[in-house]
Amino acid sequence: MTKPTAPIEFGDGEVRSRWTTAGSTPRNTATDIAALLRDLAAVCPTSTQLVDLAEHARDWWPLAMRWALQSQVPQLPLVVASPRNTDEVQRAMRTCAAHDVPVTVTAGRSGVSGASIPLFGGVVLNINELQGVISVDRTSGVVEVLAGTFGPDLERAAAEHSLTVGHFPQSFDISTVGGWVACLGAGQFSTRYGKINDMVVGLEVVLADGSIIRTGGAPAAAHGPDVSAMFIGSEGTLGIITRVWLRAHDVAPVRRKTAYFFPTFSAGILAMREAIRADATPAVLRLYDATESQRSHGGDGTTCTLIVLDDGEQEIVDATLAVVDRYARTHGAVIAPVERVDHWLAHRNDTSGLQALTKKGFVIDTMEVAAPWSAMNEVYSNVCRAVLAIDGARSISAHVSHSYLDGACLYFTFVGTTSTREINPASTDEHEALYLAIWNAAQRAALEAGGNLAHHHGVGLNRGRFMREAMGGAFDVLVAMKQALDPNDLLNPGKLGLPTTRGKVKYS
Ligand SMILES: Cc1cc2nc3c(=O)[nH]c(=O)nc-3n(C[C@H](O)[C@H](O)[C@H](O)COP(=O)(O)OP(=O)(O)OC[C@H]3O[C@@H](n4cnc5c(N)ncnc54)[C@H](O)[C@@H]3O)c2cc1C
Repeated sequence: MTKPTAPIEFGDGEVRSRWTTAGSTPRNTATDIAALLRDLAAVCPTSTQLVDLAEHARDWWPLAMRWALQSQVPQLPLVVASPRNTDEVQRAMRTCAAHDVPVTVTAGRSGVSGASIPLFGGVVLNINELQGVISVDRTSGVVEVLAGTFGPDLERAAAEHSLTVGHFPQSFDISTVGGWVACLGAGQFSTRYGKINDMVVGLEVVLADGSIIRTGGAPAAAHGPDVSAMFIGSEGTLGIITRVWLRAHDVAPVRRKTAYFFPTFSAGILAMREAIRADATPAVLRLYDATESQRSHGGDGTTCTLIVLDDGEQEIVDATLAVVDRYARTHGAVIAPVERVDHWLAHRNDTSGLQALTKKGFVIDTMEVAAPWSAMNEVYSNVCRAVLAIDGARSISAHVSHSYLDGACLYFTFVGTTSTREINPASTDEHEALYLAIWNAAQRAALEAGGNLAHHHGVGLNRGRFMREAMGGAFDVLVAMKQALDPNDLLNPGKLGLPTTRGKVKYS
């Protein structure tokens, strides 16, 4: 089993909650906490050791990484409970409901939006013990897998049957199947294999009242709204996903790669659009702006690099790459060394630069949004302009990472600096203020120009404040679903921008 890795070591000193602990206890008395701990321990393994509480109180959200350097987590939970099967998840959930204590599911803790942070303390339900592929229907290409299974373990088991699920997020090694579903994730090969919602056949979910449901189960259905879809992307607020049935593809016999340099970013976007609209969908089709091309993809500071990779049957791959090639040349591209693709393949999951810059005191993060093809250029320029107008913002760049018939994902990276790079309480407050200012500017600029709120990193805590403006009246449907499925506000309260009775939510 792959183990979650901490993004950054804690600083010296005992780890403490950064925020007030007022909301971190259940709404009952201290004696009830003792009873809660006793009752949970009777269900499954639990831990109240500080080292476990601290690790389960943070994820890869850049603010949490910064706070870790000062031995702070946003909020310590009371206890980490680690159920080993669906039955224990059900009993743990019922115990928490009886004690009226909030429950935050954590899995790989690779989320980058603070989604798995136990905002009001309470119980962290660590899902990592639900491990392994349970069955494989080789004929249909359906894999039944427990939610806490990490990417490499899933693909290894599928490969034994010459299958691949084809979901390869950059966080493949450190994220879980349940986390992919809960966050509506996208893998780097999504242009051929789709997002995680395209792969889900069905789910097993434990609801807030402890009941267990199964959703989906067929290649297609028409019996009312898709109940699986209600839990896909729900970020632990509507139910606990314990088991997932995923579509898998036969392992491809052929892989081909190619790369291009474009004179401009917009020319590259045009070529991508035309290739995709012509139904050429290579697994990987990534276009880097001039800044990112120069930084990592062999560009000279003016050109934009497109990398293309496809897997499949020879005839399909050849035809796909031929269509991409035609549209690339039509829009002024020249062939780039294929080593650009090999370089990307070798380094695509390396995040050491992120940790290094965080340790050096930089404000750094990424923001991914989806936009229709007609708005891509406007979203790109609007976000870049808005971010660079913020005092302290130093750079912004982007690439197009996942494409669809009607649009694509723009993935921005921004860096800022505060008055000092020393890590101390005052500079951390300044760091947080700049971080929020850049996010406010970038996210609103994307929405104004026709982009959406998020493509695959989810909402968590960081983006909750934008939910209503991004979703309009549809947000009320989400609120109603939360109230119907979790009337006592037990599951991951305060996330997805949902109203909560448990206390004030930071940044809301
Ligand atoms: C370096 C890096 C690169 C990344 N690249 C990508 C990428 O390419 N594509 C992408 O989509 N994402 C990416 N991410 C984001 C992150 O990896 C995904 O959101 C991932 O799906 C989270 O899975 P996890 O198991 O780590 O979940 P966690 O971070 O532990 O949890 C995330 C949220 O899901 C909920 N949750 C987790 N498991 C369950 C469950 N079983 N039932 C109910 N709720 C649950 C949690 O409560 C929380 O709200 C990246 C992150 C990092 C750090």
